[in-house]
Amino acid sequence: MSTAMRYKSKLVNPEEKQDHEKQYVGFATLPNQVHRKSVKKGFDFTLMVAGESGLGKSTLVNSLFLTDLYKDRKLLNAEERINQTVEIIKHTVDIEEKGVKLKLTIVDTPGFGDAVNNTECWKPITDYIDQQFEQYFRDESGLNRKNIQDNRVHCCLYFISPFGHGLRPVDVEFMKALHEKVNIVPLIAKADCLIPSEIRKLKERIREEIDKFGIKVYQFPECDSDEDEEFKQQDRELKESAPFAVIGSNTVVEAKGQRVRGRLYPWGIVEVENQAHCDFVKLRNMLIRTHMHDLKDVTCDVHYENYRAQCIQQMTSKLTQDNRIESPIPILPLPTPDTETEKLIKMKDEEVSTICACASWMLELESRESLQGCPIEVVLRLPLLCPPVGSWGGGQG
Ligand code: GDP
Repeated sequence: MSTAMRYKSKLVNPEEKQDHEKQYVGFATLPNQVHRKSVKKGFDFTLMVAGESGLGKSTLVNSLFLTDLYKDRKLLNAEERINQTVEIIKHTVDIEEKGVKLKLTIVDTPGFGDAVNNTECWKPITDYIDQQFEQYFRDESGLNRKNIQDNRVHCCLYFISPFGHGLRPVDVEFMKALHEKVNIVPLIAKADCLIPSEIRKLKERIREEIDKFGIKVYQFPECDSDEDEEFKQQDRELKESAPFAVIGSNTVVEAKGQRVRGRLYPWGIVEVENQAHCDFVKLRNMLIRTHMHDLKDVTCDVHYENYRAQCIQQMTSKLTQDNRIESPIPILPLPTPDTETEKLIKMKDEEVSTICACASWMLELESRESLQGCPIEVVLRLPLLCPPVGSWGGGQG
């Protein structure tokens, strides 16, 4: 509620009220203006999923966003998987909820960790993240900086197998290769394969190993001291639950008379959205409801800034070495200008030709006898009266 409205709703004497209204300038509406503009523009978010095949990545993404993003996916058999190299596949979907639009991009990495020899299998993934930074850096330094398409990866969900005793070497390598480039959120996949005590143990083990190997996973920001107690409690629980143990399912089952997303077993039903069964709801809340903006901020202020600083440093060191400007990023062909840019170029061309025509007309007039001895300002003002381009009649006007 704006300050003015708050004053109106209280019983204040008319003089006092007038005084307050005099002091009300109106900048209290700024948050509303920002809100309106953001809603109109819409939001975008890019989420990467990584982990070996069969850990339930696509099922979890579909459960998170209640969409079917993998309609056209071709499933490979075991033999094909061994020979498959890591691929990067992008799926984009526009979601709208209560008038708010979200352009969601899922970057999938099929083939990761599936080979017999997984040395450097994270390379195509780090290259992809760098390419997005590079494109953003290029766009930011380009002509049209207003409408930059942000394809930077804001978060990477990394799936850890529930069948191991902690992190495998490939998990450590992957996270270490990516932790300076992207916000990594590690997940224990298929948590319904473990009993609660096993989940607790595995979580503890993974936390210890993350510390031991110096892996920097995404850190949830500190809760503001003025937040209410309920929010603080939720925040504490969120931090204690990491790494989240998740379950995904694309099927709806009936549990206690209610239809829920879950997995049906002979011994009972595992509900995806039941907080006693897994951390799916915590992950979804964190990703979508509470930390999406922070994930984007960290991407922009920390990971992208690191990349940008490195780029600029390379540029300057190259410059001092070679004593000539050479960009460390390869020069790409210029994009074809859009209609707006074309219009602008045409306008500028016309301006230049008008100036040229005026200049030649002026020189001609200057050389005329009638203007000999005329004050210089009169000669300089003449182009303002000159006819439009195209109607120049050989200086006879
Ligand atoms: P991806 O290759 O990592 O994308 O894995 P998929 O999502 O295709 O899942 C592979 C198989 O695991 C499918 O048969 C899924 O039904 C199953 N699956 C997915 N999520 C879970 C889970 O949370 N628990 C269990 N038990 N199975 C799952």
